[in-house]
Amino acid sequence: MSIPSPALSDSARCPCGSGDVLGACCGPVLRHERRAGTAQALMRSRYTAFALRDLEHLLASWHPRTRPAPEELTESLRPDVRWLRLEVLATERGGPFDDTGTVEFIAISKSPQGRHKQHEVSRFVREDGAWYYVDGDA
Ligand SMILES: [Zn+2]
Repeated sequence: MSIPSPALSDSARCPCGSGDVLGACCGPVLRHERRAGTAQALMRSRYTAFALRDLEHLLASWHPRTRPAPEELTESLRPDVRWLRLEVLATERGGPFDDTGTVEFIAISKSPQGRHKQHEVSRFVREDGAWYYVDGDA
């Protein structure tokens, strides 16, 4: 499956809305140069992966127990879906000394069908030093 990826340089503002540039935020995580140190950092990198249609990072950051088949992500990665904004509302645990954590967020996207607001509490676990997305309650 090949989906054209919107090119974004490392000096562009990171899509996750941290205020940092891509090269100092989610970029190195997507390229596997650096691990996300917290559940929130992993969550942000996954939002950026949706925005940049980085299927590989989405799958790699998904816990093997709940990881979907690549085809199941096709809808979210459609080229006509634009990811507009991420707001992190709350985090619980998910820090460098935790093995579990949750992140509550709102992600806003836009498709030809209209604007979509996704409000979710995501669960994360850390195994062998790497954070993984497990699942979430919408
Ligand atoms: Zn970022």
